[in-house]
Amino acid sequence: MKIDELKVLFSEEQIQKRIKELADEMNKLYKKEEVTAICVLKGAVMFAADLVKHLDMPIQMEFIRLSSYGAGTTTSGKVHAVDISLPDLNNKNVLIIEDIVDTGLTAKFLTDFINNNFKTKSTKFCSLLDKKISRVTDIEPDYFGFEIDNKFVVGYGLDFDGYFRNLRYIGYKN
Ligand code: 5GP
Repeated sequence: MKIDELKVLFSEEQIQKRIKELADEMNKLYKKEEVTAICVLKGAVMFAADLVKHLDMPIQMEFIRLSSYGAGTTTSGKVHAVDISLPDLNNKNVLIIEDIVDTGLTAKFLTDFINNNFKTKSTKFCSLLDKKISRVTDIEPDYFGFEIDNKFVVGYGLDFDGYFRNLRYIGYKN
């Protein structure tokens, strides 16, 4: 995949506008209550960083690393916890921040992990992108930025073989 083969799916302006809308919704929901935001590395790094800047409540940020994709554009179908060390989340409002929900296996793994290990005050799942068409689980994000059809996207944190995470837009190979 080469950068000049990419078509823009969501521009920087569209992404930033939608993130501000999501943050406004969350600010209303949490009403200044403290939130622990969990960024799922590496893909959600840009989204999480931009989203929390618009949140008004006291925030603690945590970072965990999972992987499900093998080489290229094929999912391995298995979620692998690379680093899932977390503080005590009992009685906390937990907001999981992901880049994309595809099959939903990662989202399910994570929400089950949190709910099996902690009695949180609330657990919400937020994903920038939602590929509803590829879902194999019954998981739905509480918040999502954009629904997309079944294309492999890169940019704004999302990679192809480790590249393209630094793009300010989200694109796909035409
Ligand atoms: P799921 O477990 O829902 O099948 O997949 C979630 C993970 O797969 C995402 O966090 C992301 O890392 C990866 N993924 C799924 N679809 C895409 C895509 O279109 N592009 C990229 N770059 N990664 C994807």
